[in-house]
Amino acid sequence: MLQQRTLKSLTHAVGVGLHSGQRVEITLRPAPPDTGIVFRRVDLPQVVEIAVSATAVSDTTMASTIASGNVKVHTVEHLMSACAGLSVDNLYVDITAEEVPILDGSAASFVFLLQSAGIVMQSAPRRFVRLTQTVEVREGSGATEKWARLSPYHGYQLSFEIDFDHPAVDATGQRVVFDMSSGSYAKDIARARTFGFTKDVEMMRAKGLALGGGLDNAIVMDDYKILNAEGLRYDDEFVKHKILDAMGDLYLLGKPLLAHYSARRSGHALNNLLLRELLRRTDAWEVVTFEDAERAPRGFAQLAPAW
Ligand SMILES: [Zn+2]
Repeated sequence: MLQQRTLKSLTHAVGVGLHSGQRVEITLRPAPPDTGIVFRRVDLPQVVEIAVSATAVSDTTMASTIASGNVKVHTVEHLMSACAGLSVDNLYVDITAEEVPILDGSAASFVFLLQSAGIVMQSAPRRFVRLTQTVEVREGSGATEKWARLSPYHGYQLSFEIDFDHPAVDATGQRVVFDMSSGSYAKDIARARTFGFTKDVEMMRAKGLALGGGLDNAIVMDDYKILNAEGLRYDDEFVKHKILDAMGDLYLLGKPLLAHYSARRSGHALNNLLLRELLRRTDAWEVVTFEDAERAPRGFAQLAPAW
């Protein structure tokens, strides 16, 4: 049987929020089968829990925010991406402020935290949302058109195309395909950092965004070049970060997908629209488990081995 997974022990990190600039502590804790991933605002007089779901996403300006009433957690996508990449199903995320720490701007620190705590199998089957028909969302037209699509696929594959008219981005790959069956999420995707342009920083700061951002947690570019002295971590780090983000955004569904995700110029907003369209299209998917691990997609039984 393909089983659900959680952490073996708890783990802890301290950092600042990318947008809020606020100091924040997070504690990742094991959770029972079928809990899903639940954020808990432990800094409030009464703890407020926010279970991830497509409809818990309340804002997608520069990051994915989830909310329960007025209580929010911003920038959940990199931690969610690490959970998707390591196939962690059940987790409590205790957090002391309204934004997940940015750490190094990628998912690598979260991968390290999860792997250090250890990942264990649980006595319940892993439930996947398996696409049976294609679901698609589009926005705009012509050169500025954006789209995102989920199609039937025995496994989980993501292909992404960006189209940034910038010399530093142009020089790198603008398209990438990643398949979960490769087992190489931690090595090939997780280290890709978020990126931004100096010309946008003033505008973002005026809106109270990017207050915690800098060269130690983002790739920063002026009109011509990358300003980080150490350069890029991957030749195609930009588009790989878009895959990283998409994996996090899509994991907010609450269950892993069996699908081929393809997108052009998509972002947090369109990724969430895609999930909402998926939920509306109840004819386009089914929930499946694998009693016989042999029938699971290639490589899936081996993902994120127990420590
Ligand atoms: Zn990101």
